[in-house]
Amino acid sequence: MATTRVPILTYHGNNINGLEYTNNDLVAFQADLQLIDAIGWRIITMDQLLAWYAGQLPDEAVKQAVVLTCDDGTWFDYHDLDHPSYGPQKSLFTLLKNHQLTTGKQVHMTNFVIVSPEARKRLDQLCLVGRGWWGDDWWQSAQQSGLMSIANHSWDHNHGVLDNNNHSDDSFADIADEASCDQQIKQAQLYLQEKMGIGFNCPYFAYPYGNYSDYLHQKYLPQKARELGLMAAFTTRKDLVSRDTDRWAMPRLVCNYHWNSTTQLADLLQGK
Ligand SMILES: [Zn+2]
Repeated sequence: MATTRVPILTYHGNNINGLEYTNNDLVAFQADLQLIDAIGWRIITMDQLLAWYAGQLPDEAVKQAVVLTCDDGTWFDYHDLDHPSYGPQKSLFTLLKNHQLTTGKQVHMTNFVIVSPEARKRLDQLCLVGRGWWGDDWWQSAQQSGLMSIANHSWDHNHGVLDNNNHSDDSFADIADEASCDQQIKQAQLYLQEKMGIGFNCPYFAYPYGNYSDYLHQKYLPQKARELGLMAAFTTRKDLVSRDTDRWAMPRLVCNYHWNSTTQLADLLQGK
């Protein structure tokens, strides 16, 4: 019998460089939702995936199912906005909600947000359209809706455009000591817990740019998992999740990187 494998799909709501599938992740997401439904697949939550991974759910529970994620947490993930160059855009959240209304099926997305307010403010000026569209006003409503969970994508993404004195590199590939990891991951986790309030539990972390150091992956996360309240970490390695997958290096497929059309996505879902 073939090993059961589950794809995790990743979108970037702020990837808007036109109005086509290939240059607008919101357009792509809408088409992909329709595809998933049309080929008889369904959406499960990250919690369901992890329960299956831990042996608490049978293979049947994840058969022909995808997990949806998005990264960075800009307003394009939640708010419908009038893009200065490309006009009105429906957010990932709106598309998700509409899909639920149309199909009556379960929808869910885990949103890995950049946590630091200062970093988001600066990134909004430098990388987005500079209209204050990277705020966190929507985090609680998204979480409470049950359609979109908020999760940790590090304190400031170690983003190259920030005056970040932690590392010279624009990634997490060199992060090699506890203080730096605490600054990026623990600080973010504590802020999220404080901001989201009692009962918030989203034990997932996505590596910025998908990469990581040996120290972070083999020592820091496994050893501090309980203290941090984390159960798994996600990369952007092109693969599907099986029960043999390393929980601190879960693969994810990235829209408009690993696939550029619904045809290609259909192939990827079927492990081609
Ligand atoms: Zn990111």
